[in-house]
Amino acid sequence: MAYEVLARKWRPRQFDDVVGQEHVTRTLKNAIKADRVAHAYLFVGSRGIGKTSTARILAKSLNCEKGPTPEPCDNCDACREIMAGNAMDVLEIDGASNNGVDEVRGLRENVRYTPARGPYKIYVIDEVHMLTVAAFNALLKTLEEPPPHVKFIFATTEPQKVPATILSRCQRFDLRRISVRDLTARLELIAGAEKLDIDTDALLAIARGAEGGLRDAESALDQLIAFVGRKIREENVLSVFGLVARKTLDELVGTVLKGEIPRTIRIIAELDESGKDMQRLVVELLEYFRNILIYLYAGEGDGILDLSDEQLGILEAHAQSTDPERVLRIVNILTEVDGRLRYALSKRTILETALIRAGRAASVVSIDQVIEQINDIKKNGSMIDPGLSAKEKPQSSDPSVSGKDDVSAPTQSSTVTASRASDEPSEKELNILIGSWTELIDQISHAAPLARSCLIDSRPVMVQGHTVEIGFDPEFESHIENLDVPRNRNAIQRVIGSVLGRNIHVDFKLLEAGEKLPGDTEIKPAVKGEGENMKHGADLDENVQKATHAREKWLRDPSVRKTLEVFNGDIVDVRE
Ligand SMILES: [Zn+2]
Repeated sequence: MAYEVLARKWRPRQFDDVVGQEHVTRTLKNAIKADRVAHAYLFVGSRGIGKTSTARILAKSLNCEKGPTPEPCDNCDACREIMAGNAMDVLEIDGASNNGVDEVRGLRENVRYTPARGPYKIYVIDEVHMLTVAAFNALLKTLEEPPPHVKFIFATTEPQKVPATILSRCQRFDLRRISVRDLTARLELIAGAEKLDIDTDALLAIARGAEGGLRDAESALDQLIAFVGRKIREENVLSVFGLVARKTLDELVGTVLKGEIPRTIRIIAELDESGKDMQRLVVELLEYFRNILIYLYAGEGDGILDLSDEQLGILEAHAQSTDPERVLRIVNILTEVDGRLRYALSKRTILETALIRAGRAASVVSIDQVIEQINDIKKNGSMIDPGLSAKEKPQSSDPSVSGKDDVSAPTQSSTVTASRASDEPSEKELNILIGSWTELIDQISHAAPLARSCLIDSRPVMVQGHTVEIGFDPEFESHIENLDVPRNRNAIQRVIGSVLGRNIHVDFKLLEAGEKLPGDTEIKPAVKGEGENMKHGADLDENVQKATHAREKWLRDPSVRKTLEVFNGDIVDVRE
């Protein structure tokens, strides 16, 4: 006997077999029992969740020789023909395949004749939103005054595209995405009957990959049987779907919430190198952070979160390490990236940048904390800023330092801000540069178009005083030679300098293996004289110079500095 695919073999035959749509099947069963079946139904929902199956069961219920009955016999000719898709009285039209004009026109002519065998002529129109306007009009005529022996069952994934005139004549049912619990339970049943050796992690991974669609889940199981046989483990499933292991996802979310940027980047690099789908990763991260958000606002609720108990435990731990404001910011960043990623070639770079931003968003103070701090300032005239490291605190939050000294020395811009340019490597500034690296490259290439292709594979690796190091992987050694001409160097120094608020000197550095990651303290700073800055200063074009001066002026303003500190912010533009 030929192999029958699981989705077909396990297609539900009775209303009670339809997974996760009890709200629909119960109502239909009651309607049949009470003899109150409507003339037209519309089943709405994403693909593979049971719309067509439910339509067929409804058709059987109506035309079964023992019917109408909520439990069709599955034995009579009518039942069998309907399941096989060749019943005379049940016509299935695919709105997507031929736009249905001819078929709907035929339907109008045939609709008058009584059914060949059963009590009803039933028209099942799948993807009804794909019908042309002409087909809709033809259909509407019949829908307005349907003969008593005619029933319509429409299915659609996009109800907003179905004309209101049709919608208003249908009883509408919205089928749900099937929950992970329901999906895994169903898969377990199938696996048992098919004698598969498959563990819980693998089942969960299939459920994740299928995104609430039973048909996709069953197809995945078919694929897995074909690829790896009857013993199926999580890693098999992950590779079929291009999914990231649950544990890795947990870890990645943890690093973002803790603002551990080097680790975040390392994980993304590993995932990219092992060929994981970055777009899919964003979708999964979004769902993860959204779950944390729901947990923070609503707790576990009654099955609000579609998660296993183990996953719930991990989620809880993550939720306790953060607050809703921060998670909201992360969700916003990821939502924006999800849209951009679809059309992007360098998905990894965009995702890295986004997660770095997300990591920063996770470590900034919340609005509530800001309000609290402002109240403290009003009361005491001082500020405690949890966003700053202990090392930086004494310098930057002491109002007497930023107040008088800075303002009294307005002309020596680069030396005044030297208080910010401490001798210690600045992780914070480095993170700012890394986080905005893509944008910075854009700015640099306005003045030095050729620099772009060389910089794209580079990354800032250290900020120390007036020196900024940009690292290159060994394979891009030639980029350094190409970059190191005055025009490029000036453009890079100018743009980075304007971000950091002081003149800087850039060093290009060839990284060794294992030295790739920013924030790596192993990287030794190169000591450079400051004289070079002044030499290049002469090349600065007038506008940029003005902007830099304006920025530096505001950076010396104590209230601006406080605001920047509280928000972990930066001046990006000064409009005067
Ligand atoms: Zn029957």
